[in-house]
Amino acid sequence: MIQENLAQVRENIQEACRKSGRDPKEVVLIAVSKTMPIPMLEEAYSCGCRDFGENKVQEIMDKCPALPSDIRWHMIGHLQRNKVKYIVGKACLIHSVDSLRLAEEISAQAGKKQVEADILVEVNIAQEESKFGISREDTLQLVEDIAKLPHIHIRGLMAIAPFVENPEDNRKYFRQIRELSVDIGAKNIDNVTMSVLSMGMTGDYMVAIEEGATMVRVGTGIFGKRNYH
Ligand SMILES: *Cc1c(COP(=O)(O)O)cnc(C)c1O
Repeated sequence: MIQENLAQVRENIQEACRKSGRDPKEVVLIAVSKTMPIPMLEEAYSCGCRDFGENKVQEIMDKCPALPSDIRWHMIGHLQRNKVKYIVGKACLIHSVDSLRLAEEISAQAGKKQVEADILVEVNIAQEESKFGISREDTLQLVEDIAKLPHIHIRGLMAIAPFVENPEDNRKYFRQIRELSVDIGAKNIDNVTMSVLSMGMTGDYMVAIEEGATMVRVGTGIFGKRNYH
């Protein structure tokens, strides 16, 4: 099932790229494997997936040693400061940085481990109260503040769009975050690049790609429905 699902998702990515005149090589598919058991990740790996997304530090810690070392682990969930020490050096990219305090801790832990940490700033694009992320208005200031810290590098922005029935309803949000990223990129802030736009999930990744996503985070569309307990 995973094989067929992946083939479909990849075809959809190609299609969205064709529609918007983009090169599919610009779009990284992150297989969001949270709650999924190791054999399912192995199957996705055997189908060529190398980028996996998890939303819990503990799950990355458990899964990482059990799977091939060329996997790139993406931390996409809310990150507590007391867990930062476990994830720095393990995750290739932390997508969910939304405060200076969190960035400071990542910077400090990266310094301690003598590694460099790549991060995205998470923007609460629809200003939903239930979501983490910084408001659009405060994003530039946060980027400027984080940029001054050592051992941490902002690579772009991440956003979680609202849950909607019709993915077209999220197009305006994807467009806004892309505009925000272009605006911030144009400021040429030292130690900041805006090359990554992480947006789009199973329900709306095609629209997100049409609006400029360079990373899409797809869980259900690859692994099927999750069972939360
Ligand atoms: C779970 C999750 C996803 C994937 O969601 P699907 O709808 O299953 O594709 C993407 N991004 C984040 C931040 C998530 O927590």
